[in-house]
Amino acid sequence: MIELDGAEGEGGGQVLRTALTLAMIAQVPFRMHNIRAGRAKPGLLRQHLTAVQAATEISAADTIGAQVSSRELSFSPGPVRAGDFRYAIGTAGSCTLVLQTVLPALWFANGSSRVLVTGGTHNPAAPPVDFVQGAWLPLLARMGVTMTVELLRCGFYPAGGGEVCATVQPSVLRPLQLETRGEFAAAHMMALVAGVPRHVAEREVQRVCGAFTAATSTIRELPQREGPGNAVALTLAYEHVTEVFCGFGERGRSAEGVADGVARDARAYVESGAAVGSHLADQMLLPMALAGGGSFTTMQPTSHSLTNMSVIEQFLPVKFVVKQVEGARGLWQVGVTERGAESKGDA
Ligand code: AMP
Repeated sequence: MIELDGAEGEGGGQVLRTALTLAMIAQVPFRMHNIRAGRAKPGLLRQHLTAVQAATEISAADTIGAQVSSRELSFSPGPVRAGDFRYAIGTAGSCTLVLQTVLPALWFANGSSRVLVTGGTHNPAAPPVDFVQGAWLPLLARMGVTMTVELLRCGFYPAGGGEVCATVQPSVLRPLQLETRGEFAAAHMMALVAGVPRHVAEREVQRVCGAFTAATSTIRELPQREGPGNAVALTLAYEHVTEVFCGFGERGRSAEGVADGVARDARAYVESGAAVGSHLADQMLLPMALAGGGSFTTMQPTSHSLTNMSVIEQFLPVKFVVKQVEGARGLWQVGVTERGAESKGDA
């Protein structure tokens, strides 16, 4: 039984999600206390509880502490089984975070699966579907994962009601080495509004395309019943990697403010020279560890990434190595190897 303190490092939901995923794959039980102790509303929120319930069903686990607000959980998984699964978060909690918890376990299942989740699809502090489709899935495909994620309906805070459907096949992962982005290929800015005036999206597009003059643009106007909501995604495609930078409208925040936030994040990534931005970095750690090797260049590792590495190392026989490559630009390299493999060459 692995004992985890949810307060360590970032102290957020990712500690729990990574533990659930790897407990299912490694077939190791864990107990966690201080769940999400670093967050304003600690304990299990609906999104985390749904992830626990999904993992429990998919691996026929014995689970204790699966209630809203619970700060302790014990999870003992059985074998992962493929199937057709449906989960309703019941709030605008993030569908993609629930999917990211269970999909990696289903790479190791006995057949193909389909997972449908209802809830939020464009949440601050979670990967929007556009990011999952544009940035995360293509790298996983290169690693040998066969998986699709489809946005069926958008869901915004606080109403939720969005719907995302994923299909996944059993997959054998191969290591990925991603040292450079390669040549710039294309930039695209997408702004979507649901029950929010079109001029909000137009101003966001104008502002971001003013900063990224090579970018083409699309405005998506969704039915009012899917809103109110506003989200933007700037996609930067390179030869070896595609990154997606997202922002979200909220009451009291101007369209220009949303656009400037996205442009600033994208500009910091471009100037760093890194292959992988901060969010993509923390989401690639688990697949790379499962592949038993790989590396990428990135920006200064976030506390999300460092915490995720430490949780992964407790479940899998791997070791992460983090090195600064270039101080001036803030360029770093993250590598993972099987534990013990780093000394084999010296024998
Ligand atoms: P936690 O805060 O521990 O629940 O983890 C949140 C997860 O959402 C992390 O994997 C973040 O990298 C990811 N995330 C947050 N914001 C974004 C964003 N704008 N784009 C992509 N991923 C994000």
